[in-house]
Amino acid sequence: MKIGIPKEIVEGETRVALIPSLVPTLTKLEHDVMVEIGAGAGASFSDAEYEAAGATLIDDVVELYQRADVIFKVRPLDWHPKANRSEVDLLREGSVLIGFLAPLSHMETIAKLLDKKISAFAMELIPRITRAQSMDALSSMATVTGYKAVLMAADHLGKFFPLLMTAAGTIPPATVLVLGAGVAGLQAIATAKRLGAKVEAFDPRPAVKEQVQSLGAQFIEMEVPEDVETAGGYAKEQSEAFLQKEREVISQRLPKVDVIITTAQVFGKRAPVLITEEMVNLLRPGSIIVDLAAEQGGNCALTKPNEIIEHQGVTIFGPVNLAATIPVHASQMYAKNVVNLFRHLFPSPEKSFDFEDEITRGACVTHNGEIINDMVKEAMKVRTGG
Ligand code: NAD
Repeated sequence: MKIGIPKEIVEGETRVALIPSLVPTLTKLEHDVMVEIGAGAGASFSDAEYEAAGATLIDDVVELYQRADVIFKVRPLDWHPKANRSEVDLLREGSVLIGFLAPLSHMETIAKLLDKKISAFAMELIPRITRAQSMDALSSMATVTGYKAVLMAADHLGKFFPLLMTAAGTIPPATVLVLGAGVAGLQAIATAKRLGAKVEAFDPRPAVKEQVQSLGAQFIEMEVPEDVETAGGYAKEQSEAFLQKEREVISQRLPKVDVIITTAQVFGKRAPVLITEEMVNLLRPGSIIVDLAAEQGGNCALTKPNEIIEHQGVTIFGPVNLAATIPVHASQMYAKNVVNLFRHLFPSPEKSFDFEDEITRGACVTHNGEIINDMVKEAMKVRTGG
């Protein structure tokens, strides 16, 4: 099969969907890899490296899309300024697309994918099951994000993170509070610990306490309702009464906290507000909040996506694409996830997709003019009133 890697077009996107060292994995399986010139530049992968690894370089993006049987992408399809049409219009009829597709917020694109009989697979819809861990791009990107959030905070805090005993006196460690200890939160805890901070964390899912403690952080004890998580291991939406109690427990700690990293999310819902304006006022001037839920509405009431807010001496960051700030390893992890999904979908080129398989069915948005993923199907029905 011919696999095409276009250059990402969204401003500020530095990642690429395939890195040179993974080209031979595909060529050994007798696939051809075509890479748009400059596709890896944002992540410091040169055209020469792709060529040396066995890929063909293509200058014209229209030609790349037309020749490709399969396209690997990072970001959802968008308007292509150079081609002067949407990326969805560049796809060849009946071809395969793999990438983050944000299907629920791109319904018009889905309609076009249906018309063009594209087999589209969304990385964010891959079921979070053990068998699919090697394809789990959400976890890969959350790992990058959790790490970088701590570095951002450390960079802006006017204090050291570690305890220092110097001739000029003893400096106590910074106190970091992490709210939400899923993949990003656990990586934030681990990173803050490595930098020597005193770390505290909370997450309502019971399994998390042990994970937090195993990283050397203190788990904040709180009474939680019994049914906090779904069968799939995700947090359910919490009642306002619980969130109010959570805010009270957090408030007690705020006067001593230097940095707060928030990552709390509930799948398909607005992120819970865990820090109100009054709570921000309890922080000492110079404190930092990095709100990783900014795109989902924010865990802090004052957060604005992609902005830095100053409020009574406290700085609140609402970063939206932190993964793109560590492009080499973010691309490496993402590309590995994509290649693993591709190999799962095509154990051999002749085989048709096995929609009995939970991963294939779960990740597939459209195939042969039909919506396959149940959640996307429901959303489309609601939208079209069908
Ligand atoms: P996420 O990004 O959806 O949410 C982040 C965290 O926010 C979660 O840990 C959630 O419990 C927490 N949260 C929700 N409401 C909160 C509140 N009121 N206060 C504080 N925290 C709150 O989650 P994620 O990081 O993508 O993953 C979450 C779960 O999925 C974990 O159980 C993880 O182990 C599991 N998972 C499993 C696999 C796998 O088996 N393949 C892969 C990845 C993740």
